[in-house]
Amino acid sequence: MTDAPTMSAMVLDAPHRALAQRELPIPQPGPGEVLLRVRACGVCRTDLHLVDGELPEPRLPVIPGHEIVGEVVATGSDAGRFAPGQRVGVPWLGWTCGECEPCRSGRENLCRRSRFHGYTLDGGYAQYACADERYCFPLPEAFDDAHAAPLLCAGLIGYRSYRFCGEGVRDLGIYGFGAAAHIIAQIAAYQGKQVFAFTRPGDAAAQEFARRHGANWAGDSTDHPPVALDAAIIFAPAGGLVPAALAAVKPGGVVVCGGIHMSDIPSFPYRLLWEERTVRSVANLERRDGEEFLPLAARAGVHTEVELFPLAAANEALHRLRAGQLSGAAVLIPSETTQGT
Ligand SMILES: [Zn+2]
Ligand SMILES: [Zn+2]
Repeated sequence: MTDAPTMSAMVLDAPHRALAQRELPIPQPGPGEVLLRVRACGVCRTDLHLVDGELPEPRLPVIPGHEIVGEVVATGSDAGRFAPGQRVGVPWLGWTCGECEPCRSGRENLCRRSRFHGYTLDGGYAQYACADERYCFPLPEAFDDAHAAPLLCAGLIGYRSYRFCGEGVRDLGIYGFGAAAHIIAQIAAYQGKQVFAFTRPGDAAAQEFARRHGANWAGDSTDHPPVALDAAIIFAPAGGLVPAALAAVKPGGVVVCGGIHMSDIPSFPYRLLWEERTVRSVANLERRDGEEFLPLAARAGVHTEVELFPLAAANEALHRLRAGQLSGAAVLIPSETTQGT
């Protein structure tokens, strides 16, 4: 009897704990699934919310990670969409039921029984991962593995937030200029929009970063932009930004909250919302977002700023994200496995 081949993985046992590095059996692809060798996995703010216990009922223990770039190495029964050797991207949305009312009405992002990579399904902080092939995306060749990873959540959720700003937006505000913002600002600039970036007050480095990535103007979140905005997206998890953004948008303007978690929104005078301004949130993604966004990102020549970490340094990457010490996106690069093969 030989030992099953194993892989290195970073595992969350319980909230408020550091991830533990473990040797685990390489998972076997189930029906309709592909087994991927993980070539890169992005680190998303949602992973921090998971570690901090801010997301309800995670499946524990769980391998985080939902910006997975992987190479298909095996396929389960009934899986034929991708061939071994092909490169695919795996996002947050991992499975939906197809039967509930949101699923039947074309809103699979709100499926009542949905499963998510790195939360209720194992994710990509590992050398291997399995995924339902229907929720994987082919990746444009224009992006190498590391630079493709942030597109799979920061890019997709950013795009969904951007889409909800509506048609005809010319002056777009973005609050919180991290991984999602630096991608969407490039898309907005490509589509001829003016981008106004808001950062933590006094964060000159973030403002310079924003100007390098498509922002026409960058300032403090407490500043008024030089023009009234048609729409604003809030990527920072700070509820206090909602009244600030409402004060900056025109009558009829939209404020889109792009995060999965936000601190409480302070009370604010009704006049900030009046004149048909809208506040809305974005939850998860539909596959449609990826099918539209990934080719668009390639056409727009989006360049993602990435900082690479070995898999074992996942805790360090999370710490740097929490401390606001990353410009762009952290990406974990698992090395090849050598054990058990
Ligand atoms: Zn459903
Ligand atoms: Zn994410």
